[in-house]
Amino acid sequence: MARKNEDKCNFCGRGRSEVRLLISGLNGFICDECSEQAHTIVEETFNEYKNRARESALRLDKLPKPKQIKEFLDGYVIGQDEAKRNLSVAVYNHYKRIMQPASADDVEIEKSNIIMVGRTGTGKTLLAKTIAKMLEVPFAIVDATVLTEAGYVGEDIESILTRLLMNCDYDVNKAERGIVFIDEIDKIARKSDNPSITRDVSGEGVQQGLLKLLEGSKVNVPPQGGRKHPDQKMIEVDTKNILFICGGAFDGIEQKIGARLNTRSIGFATDASRKEIDRNNLLQYITPADLKKFGLIPEIIGRLPILTYLQPLDADALRRILTEPKNAITKQYTKLFDMDGIKLTIEPEVYQLIVDKALEFKLGARGLRSITESIMLDAMYNMPSGKKKEFTVTLDYAKAELAKANLDRMRTE
Ligand code: ADP
Repeated sequence: MARKNEDKCNFCGRGRSEVRLLISGLNGFICDECSEQAHTIVEETFNEYKNRARESALRLDKLPKPKQIKEFLDGYVIGQDEAKRNLSVAVYNHYKRIMQPASADDVEIEKSNIIMVGRTGTGKTLLAKTIAKMLEVPFAIVDATVLTEAGYVGEDIESILTRLLMNCDYDVNKAERGIVFIDEIDKIARKSDNPSITRDVSGEGVQQGLLKLLEGSKVNVPPQGGRKHPDQKMIEVDTKNILFICGGAFDGIEQKIGARLNTRSIGFATDASRKEIDRNNLLQYITPADLKKFGLIPEIIGRLPILTYLQPLDADALRRILTEPKNAITKQYTKLFDMDGIKLTIEPEVYQLIVDKALEFKLGARGLRSITESIMLDAMYNMPSGKKKEFTVTLDYAKAELAKANLDRMRTE
């Protein structure tokens, strides 16, 4: 009981002597425990609002239209218009499909998973990631190379979904509407052409396993990933509404496309097919048949009906990637310096140097960051302890820093 005349918490009535802390306000008091409880209530309520907002984000009238999706992607990904348009429509249709009312007619919109073909570092992962960011749905990236058939060393196919579950705190409902990006899908192509491989552990068997996920079924997912073991409790996930986006470089597929185009043009050359073929960018002519030739099984190809491609990045695209995206590399360095009160200026010729080096070392967009880092490292080490408030990166300075950096170790070929 509170002592007579002592201050009391206006919420629980306990006196100052009975609590650890009594906070006074204009007209009353609150004790530490009640304020903590109040805090929890506020958190819970806000979380509930947030969840509801997220739910409603997936209402059809709220769903961004394909043009809006593309505009959003434009803010983060340079070029790749064809892939962006394909993705925008496919994603829009996918979420329309999820929201389709219980069918009065017999029309059921089928799931349309996506496959993107393009050299590494051209923006496949970035596109998938950016779409998930826009839609605020759970997103997971998995690498097909770690997957193996049950019974072999490696991860079970179902573990693809573990990552998705983890990314939404094991909220199965949310996970069931998420997006999974499966990278390096070309690495599980059938290798039967290759006599040195006796057992196709990571090839056709994995594709068969993947098929189950892609077409939509209820699967048991090991909560911790990796291999399933008998006494582990599984989580059941329905993949019916999960959108799968696959990506792969498919090294060498251009030759297959080229060969197909050559044979087709003999004998059947109509006016349309005689149109000049752009030999520098054969990927734009890719068809499901080329994927089959490469070693994907027809069933998998059938489950990835949207086939699109990414262009190799030329000097102009690389230059734009350095400065234009919302999260552009140079913007990040400007911010880093700004946090130390230093105004960073990079002379335009330096951008050209970075792009030239990325091309020379065949590093693509991935190289832009490491090259820029090499140029900036000394300054980032020294300047925070110095007095200068401005820093200009000139071409000579950048060249000198790069000469010190031993870029040769980055060479990929
Ligand atoms: P991929 O999945 O095709 O191998 P990523 O999407 O992972 O390539 O690209 C690697 C990095 O290169 C990205 O994080 C991004 O910084 C940059 N990048 C690649 N392509 C683009 C692009 N078209 N626009 C902007 N940045 C890009």
